[in-house]
Amino acid sequence: MNLDVLVLYYINHSNQLSFLGYLSNGRPLTCVAWTTFTSRDLLNTLKIPSKTFITFMMTLEDHYVKDNPFHNSLHAADVTQGTHVLLNTPALESVFTPLEITAALFAACIHDVDHPGLTNQFLINSSSELALMYNDESVLENHHLAVAFKLLQNDGCDIFCNMTKKQRQTLRKMVIDMVLSTDMSKHMSLLADLKTMVETKKVAGSGVLLLDNYTDRIQVLENLVHCADLSNPTKPLSLYKQWVERLMEEFFQQGDKEREAKMDISPMCDRHSATIEKSQVGFIDYIVHPLWETWADLVHPDAQDILDTLEENRDYYQAAIPPSPPADDIGDGQRPGIRFQVTLEEGEGEGEGEASASSEAPM
Ligand SMILES: [Zn+2]
Repeated sequence: MNLDVLVLYYINHSNQLSFLGYLSNGRPLTCVAWTTFTSRDLLNTLKIPSKTFITFMMTLEDHYVKDNPFHNSLHAADVTQGTHVLLNTPALESVFTPLEITAALFAACIHDVDHPGLTNQFLINSSSELALMYNDESVLENHHLAVAFKLLQNDGCDIFCNMTKKQRQTLRKMVIDMVLSTDMSKHMSLLADLKTMVETKKVAGSGVLLLDNYTDRIQVLENLVHCADLSNPTKPLSLYKQWVERLMEEFFQQGDKEREAKMDISPMCDRHSATIEKSQVGFIDYIVHPLWETWADLVHPDAQDILDTLEENRDYYQAAIPPSPPADDIGDGQRPGIRFQVTLEEGEGEGEGEASASSEAPM
């Protein structure tokens, strides 16, 4: 078995995620990107020179922040692998063109590059350079895109050099649409559109989805990458738990910063009071399960096993919630229930409290 195939295998099966770093010589993203692109023959089809591909991917990987517990190149490799798997779903067979598939995989590769390990809300609240630059709108996602497209201009990095101008324009538009859709504040409207699509979906005799215009095609691709980004809770439990540990550590480091700066500590970011198990159950119930359930409806019956694992994992975390202290001992801000909040798009109102998603949420 080739090393890159091994890496791809281990990213979904290893009991120790850090083993992947060793196996790929510290380059999980380059390895997974190489395997997914070559297994689909995309380098030949779109005339991407192999040397340029490797140079770009290594440069991209170098721009992921190694010290982030979660948002590092292993997460990008994981989302790329997830995107690759979801594109293989039988209901989408032969639906997307090589250019669209390239755009989706490329979007997954770049979607968190140079992530500082802090949330959009933190960057906005602290009047960071990035928030000023992007006027508080999808700050991180705009930044990831700008960094990645800038890197393509480095010497020997333009993997799209042999495409026509039209292909480059189309690809760029699709990649921008997909990466901006990974902003959690877009989650609710993305999901609402997906639900509408499921209600009106058209299927060919072969069971394959019919998507005959750009709006429908990009909508499926946006949701596909978003699903891959939110796929940790659908993985075998031992893997899922490792991702949770990494994410919570990143949140706690942000909470430490907020405490030090005397800012309000963001939901789930206080290492002295966060209930990890409760947060995961809330995250699954209000965000991840509704999304995957709708995705499973769209590609029915392809994603049933994914949904089953998700539900088993949810029950595991539900059972692991520590008993609440007696009511008298509960101080303000420590009420039971799931404490994370959603920041919806303007016009949809602000949701908060137990039944809510999170702009803080992860991924
Ligand atoms: Zn991500």
